[in-house]
Order: sequence, then C-alpha cells, then structure tokens
Amino acid sequence: MRVLLVGSGGREHALAACLSRSPELETLFIAPGNPGMAPLGTLVPIDAGDVTALVAFAKEQGIDLVVPGPEAPLVAGLADLCAGAGIACAGPSQAASALEGSKSFTKDVADAACIPTARWERFENADEALAFVRRRGAPIVIKADGLAAGKGVIVAQTLEEAERAIVDILTDRSFGEAGASIVIEECLVGQEVSLFAFCSDGEAVLIGAARDHKRIGEGDTGPNTGGMGAISPPPAFDRAAQEKALDLMVRPMLAEMVRRGTPFRGIIFAGLMLTETGPKLIEYNVRFGDPEAQALLIRLQSDLLPVLKALAEGRLEDAAIRFSDDASVSVVLAARGYPGTPSRGGVIKGLDRAEAIPGVSVFHAGTAVENDRLVAAGGRVLTVCATGADPEEARRRAYEGVSAIEWADGVYRRDIGL
Ligand code: ATP
Repeated sequence: MRVLLVGSGGREHALAACLSRSPELETLFIAPGNPGMAPLGTLVPIDAGDVTALVAFAKEQGIDLVVPGPEAPLVAGLADLCAGAGIACAGPSQAASALEGSKSFTKDVADAACIPTARWERFENADEALAFVRRRGAPIVIKADGLAAGKGVIVAQTLEEAERAIVDILTDRSFGEAGASIVIEECLVGQEVSLFAFCSDGEAVLIGAARDHKRIGEGDTGPNTGGMGAISPPPAFDRAAQEKALDLMVRPMLAEMVRRGTPFRGIIFAGLMLTETGPKLIEYNVRFGDPEAQALLIRLQSDLLPVLKALAEGRLEDAAIRFSDDASVSVVLAARGYPGTPSRGGVIKGLDRAEAIPGVSVFHAGTAVENDRLVAAGGRVLTVCATGADPEEARRRAYEGVSAIEWADGVYRRDIGL
C-alpha cells in the first residue's frame, strides 16, 4: 500500500513507526514529518493544514490511504476531499469532525444518544448568559463553542470569574468566531481519563485509556501545554471499565452519527470525568492525543496498516487488533521557555543510549538537523516512552531513557504517572 501520513509531532512519529513495520506497506510519505521520521519514509514539505495540496499530492502519487494525525486537516475537510478523489482516509469527514470542532454539537449528540454528560445551555447573547450564571452560581464552566487551542474552557470557581469569561468570549470575542456562542456547563468533580477507540460507522474497537498531564509544572502547576506526559492505563480504570465506558460513551454516539447521515470513521478520543455517580463525557476529539498516542501505540502488537485501511472503508469488523497488557508511560522533553518562547538550537545527544534500554522508544516532535547535528527547533521536542510489566517499571524505564539524553535546554516533569 502507498500511504500518506499527515503531521509532524511525536504522535505522528509513533504512527509512522507502526506503519513502517507493516508487511503491507509499499511506500510511506510523511507531510511534513520531522527528522526522527526521515528513516521511516519520504518527507514531503506540505503543511499539515494545506488540505488541497495534500490531496493533489496523494492523487499524483497514487496514494491508497491517507492517515491524518492532527485535527486541523480533518476540520478543514481532508477526508471529504480524499473521498472526492477516490482515496481512502483514516479520519472523519468534516461533518463528523464537528464532534471536536463544536462543543454545542457534541452536547446535542450526547443528549440525543443518552450519553451521561454535564447539564448545559448554549448562549449567543451575553446578557442572557450573565443572567443564567447569576441564577446558577459558581462553580460553573464556561466554554467557547468552537476550537480555541485548548484555552477556550474556563472552570470558574467564582461568579465574578464566570462573568468575566462570558464578557471576554461573547462580547470582546477574545477567541474570534470560535466564541460567537458559548456553552455553559455544570461543574463536574472527579478524576479525568481519556478513552481511545478505532471507529467505523457503527463499530468501535477499544485501543485503551490514558491519563495525560497538561500543565508545565510538577504537581499540575503553571500554564497549560500541549501535554507533558501520559500514563496508560490510568490507575483504577482497567480494561473492563474501559470496555464499559466504550458501550456507554462511544457506541451510542456512533449510532447517533449514523442516524444523522454523518457516520464517524477514525480514531475517537473521549475525555471522561469519573464522578461519584459514574463516568461523564467532557469532550470528544476526533484523533489521537499527543503524548497519549505514543504511550498507546508502543503496546500495539498487530499490524496497524490493515486496521486503518479497514476503518477507512467501513470494514472494521474484519480487522485483527491486539495490544500487550503492559503499562506504558510517556515523558515529554520540552525546550526551556515552553509554553512561552522556547529556546532553540541546543544540541541533543544520547537518543541511541536511551533507545537501548529495554522497552524504551524515543519519538521526535520539534527537532531539526543542522550541520549534521540534532538540535531543538520547537516547544515540545521529544517524547520518551516506555513499556513495563507494571506502571512502576514503565515509569522507571522512561526516566532512565530521559536521563540518557544529553540536552542542556531540555525540561521535563518528574512526576508523570505518579
Ligand atoms: P479548546 O476548545 O479551547 O481547545 P478543550 O477542547 O481542551 O478546549 P475541554 O477538553 O472541553 O476543552 O475542557 C478542558 C478541560 O476543562 C477539561 O480537560 C477539564 O479539566 C475541564 N472541564 C471541561 N468541562 C468541565 C466540566 N463540565 N466540569 C469540570 N471541568 C471541566
């Protein structure tokens, strides 16, 4: 098969590693990719968001399957353009990608499918929204309806905070058109977990679950990041609980999407809150998380390529999918300064030594090669990932891997998976 993988982060490097092992792979192109992926396929300098150029390239190269990593090309209609060109795509249509692109759409689908979620209302008018929160009181959650790069959700502990968020988003349009409407939700309390599944029309096959660490600082302090590490499976959310959550949170959504005439084909990422009264849906994303993908995919024992082809073609029931029972931990190495301005250009060494540790894989994100040396060229730079018989072993190996890497500007959290 001729495959075009889209993206350039650690998530896509982990996908490329799986795809490159497939006996069914003939050629792998990666747009735009990163230096870590160069030995696995041919890097193509097309931006992941440039869906027109991606599909033109796929047509020209006779690509059999497009594998999108991030959400941006999906929300921009990559799968629809692929369908128009007769090319299979392992990601959802633009209409189905609204599960990530619009929070009120997701809440509507959840209500229609009887999926447990926080009670909610949608508002376009700031005065009505302000009157609503004054009646309800705090804590309360205010969300820009559209995509806001992870910054559009305010868990307001006080009424003043909630009022400020409403004015910011609806009146001052601090997130632009993503804030043309807001969702106001009941505040849920509990532990968060992320559930992942391969989906195709009405079928869902469990991939696994993970817990990520979003804040830059240890003990979940400081500003939010793209993700500083993940553990899989999360404590107290075993395979049986994951299968149960798939029945409750994903399969009814898939049936509802089929009923609406916009079936979902791709990877679903369901963000859940484990509350005292059972799991509740917080959000869906229409792709793998990063660094969750790395932690999940290093446990994949079967061939990923036929699975992705089958889900793209609505034949997921034919796919053989097996994961090891190991635990896994991924630790992100970021450049000093991230999530503000990261320091660039620092030389990175020792990746071979890290990967020589049993169970350890290192995935690249913001790296570059300058004068034959690997250097930092982004915020999140590497993900060191390890499997182990239990979470402690996975954690120990991942941090041994981190210690083997020499990079003066590298920062990481030491509490991933604790
Ligand atoms: P953006 O649209 O800005 O990219 P996002 O998709 O990251 O945001 P969510 O995942 O819906 O937004 O919410 C972000 C975080 O806010 C959640 O991970 C959770 O910690 C918290 N959160 C969201 N909804 C609730 C809720 N109803 N109760 C408590 N916490 C919540």
